[in-house]
Amino acid sequence: MKDLSIIIPENEWGRSEECGIFGIASQDSKELARDVYFGLFSLQHRGQESAGIAVSYNTNKVGYYKNLGLVSEVFHEEELKLLPNTNVAIGHVRYGFKGSSNVINAQPIVVYGRYGRLAIALNGSIVNADRIRKKMIEEGHTFQSSSDAEVVAALISKCATESVEQGIFDACQHLEGAFALLVLCGDKLIAVRDKYGLKPMVMGTKGGDIIFASESCGLDAVEAETLRDVEPAEMITVLKGRELVSRKFAVPNMRPCIFELVYLARSDSFLDNVSVYEARHKCGEILADLFKIDADIVSGVPDSAIVSGRGYAAVSGIPYVDALSKNRYVGRTFIQPTQSQRESSVKIKLNAFRANIRGKRLILIDDSIVRGTTSKKIISLLRASGAKEVHMLVASPIVKHPCYFGVDMGTKEGLIGGYRNEEQIRQIIGADTLKFISLELLKDACAGLNYCTGCFDGNYPICPKKFLNENDRLDFIDD
Ligand code: SF4
Repeated sequence: MKDLSIIIPENEWGRSEECGIFGIASQDSKELARDVYFGLFSLQHRGQESAGIAVSYNTNKVGYYKNLGLVSEVFHEEELKLLPNTNVAIGHVRYGFKGSSNVINAQPIVVYGRYGRLAIALNGSIVNADRIRKKMIEEGHTFQSSSDAEVVAALISKCATESVEQGIFDACQHLEGAFALLVLCGDKLIAVRDKYGLKPMVMGTKGGDIIFASESCGLDAVEAETLRDVEPAEMITVLKGRELVSRKFAVPNMRPCIFELVYLARSDSFLDNVSVYEARHKCGEILADLFKIDADIVSGVPDSAIVSGRGYAAVSGIPYVDALSKNRYVGRTFIQPTQSQRESSVKIKLNAFRANIRGKRLILIDDSIVRGTTSKKIISLLRASGAKEVHMLVASPIVKHPCYFGVDMGTKEGLIGGYRNEEQIRQIIGADTLKFISLELLKDACAGLNYCTGCFDGNYPICPKKFLNENDRLDFIDD
């Protein structure tokens, strides 16, 4: 196998995707697609662009259905009934970046390769995917989509000389970046997590079935018991729904994404054994210790900052009230493909509880400020709805750098904190006060694991210099 790791310019980095994946393997052939449906439903917050489920049947056939939309829009009784009973099923919800909103990029990706049909569900960003794609095209391969998952599928097929497991194992040696991967092939389900553990994946069990999910809330949705997190660099093969084989494809170097705890994950999930709820509550408590503000009420921006808002209220003694009502049927504002879509979705997504805030001095807790679009609109909405003062406290540091590993933050120029300090940001968003928690205190609140903190301090597990050409701007270096 030739070395496929090559220098690539920043603008060619992979089609980043922050997604949710779910897979299940059983000794018995049954309606697993329905369990996957419930699992995906609970992971909907990780991606609203498309949803899909693939099942294996008749030894080496794969049945699948996927489409653009929410899980509840894509799957109805008739679509679930199209998918045969099976021993192995996987599913995917996708959030894709600008330009890739196309059903062809929906997952699972199903391909026909050296070991027959296989289906792949990928959460992450393979930073060298485009270069691998170009190299494989030169060698005669063809691709249908711009998805990193198809590149991974092609690479597995190319490597799979002995077995599909060995193909996945060898392919992982060539993949750089952040990924959690589920592969279905015949009666095998294979789960892989990148060597830094940047993307989360947890393993559980129910009635002897083995289940994998991006977050533990996915296991809860099907009433499965959590066994453990998939470890960094670990590849777990489930054979015939019962036999588990674990291998390490690289030396693990644990650096999970701290932004999962800040914003991405659901508050009722555990990631690498850390309670998201406790981490967020602790951040609120820390904010209350650090920033004592003379105010009447405190509130959190729904959903991710509600817990931190309650933490602030518990320590400060200032009453917690609901200041903002969220329309739960609109996708997450931050994860929409274009700026105009982001702005219009803020307007329909949040409304103020006028009776709760009229004439009040309000402390508003948010989990993070990325582009600043939402914060500015929320503050102006709260003032227009009668709030006398709006003091914003943020349960994470200033986001100063892009994410190269699948979290859609845009470029440094697009980040409100890319080149601005706290006071400059405060003036733009129109808050009476603006304060952020320090990175050290955030890490403490998140149980002190050795996290990736690249978007806050430029300290990425893979140095971007490795992927940038000499003349490219190194905007990850702190100013
Ligand atoms: S750069 Fe930020 S968002 Fe990206 S993986 Fe690291 S901590 Fe997570």
